[in-house]
Amino acid sequence: MSFSSKVKEELLRQSLGKSCCSLSELSALTQTSGSLALRGAGRVQVTYRVESAALARRIFLLLRTRLDIVAKLHYVQNARLGGRRSCVLTLGDQDSQRLLLALHMMEQGEDGGVTLRRTAPRHPMTRQCCRRAFLRGAFLGAGSMTSPEKGYHFEWVADDEGLMKTIMRLLEKSDLPARAFERKGRQVVYLKGAQQIADALALMGASASVLDMENIRITKQMRADANRASNCDEHNSEKMLNAAEKQIDAIKLISIQRGLFTLPPGLQEIARLRLEHTSLSLTELGQLMTPPVGKSGVNHRMRRLMEVARDIENTLDAHTEEESP
Ligand SMILES: [Zn+2]
Repeated sequence: MSFSSKVKEELLRQSLGKSCCSLSELSALTQTSGSLALRGAGRVQVTYRVESAALARRIFLLLRTRLDIVAKLHYVQNARLGGRRSCVLTLGDQDSQRLLLALHMMEQGEDGGVTLRRTAPRHPMTRQCCRRAFLRGAFLGAGSMTSPEKGYHFEWVADDEGLMKTIMRLLEKSDLPARAFERKGRQVVYLKGAQQIADALALMGASASVLDMENIRITKQMRADANRASNCDEHNSEKMLNAAEKQIDAIKLISIQRGLFTLPPGLQEIARLRLEHTSLSLTELGQLMTPPVGKSGVNHRMRRLMEVARDIENTLDAHTEEESP
């Protein structure tokens, strides 16, 4: 199951909440998953079409519990989408009108007649609880997110600009500045970055998903750190071997030109150890000395050995110059 589906499953398990929140969630679900059919004489019919049976059940419960509306449920086989089944909830004329009035998507005139609102429906969402419920409903109806294993992207798809603006406004009120772009004529509101996405999940009440995401993030971080450390090790040992090679060349030069016996005893010992143990670090070489010498002590001796070798090299160079015409 995708991470997105898991989030939705968690959101669907939440209780319906207070009646103000139920209406907010219904408003979001109606705008994302509902459609209005005009039936003449000012009558409209609301229909919801969703892929998930669990989401259909939630819409059904929201309608029945808060507005005492009993929707008719039936299934439709999608010929185009590989025969996938959609759940369709249909409301009667009277119920549709009651719902739309409750959601402020319809207005009742003084003469008792009703008209659909032309402007974006404005369900008053002044409370934080209702804003969270709306974002939850909109995510259930038209949201998705990339698995945190792959990347950080979280989005709501809105059919119209009004809904896009509503979602952006609600996110902004919760300190989550979102961005939007157009995809195939639809508006996409999205969040990027692990922290913002975790905050959005928490806002909608998906706390288990926040933890899941956090765990994935930590595992990813640890893997990256381990990679970096092993690259670093390789890099270091390569550097160490390069240094050892230079030391060995220097010692060989001294040995050929002057003989190691010409060196003071401390330098002689480290020179012989270096030649015997080509891949050991300076610290390890120091431990083989009698008595053992610390890293800085070995370092110091090695520097002196290199100086002796440089001295020999300079002398050799000077000779070659004298000899050449
Ligand atoms: Zn509320």
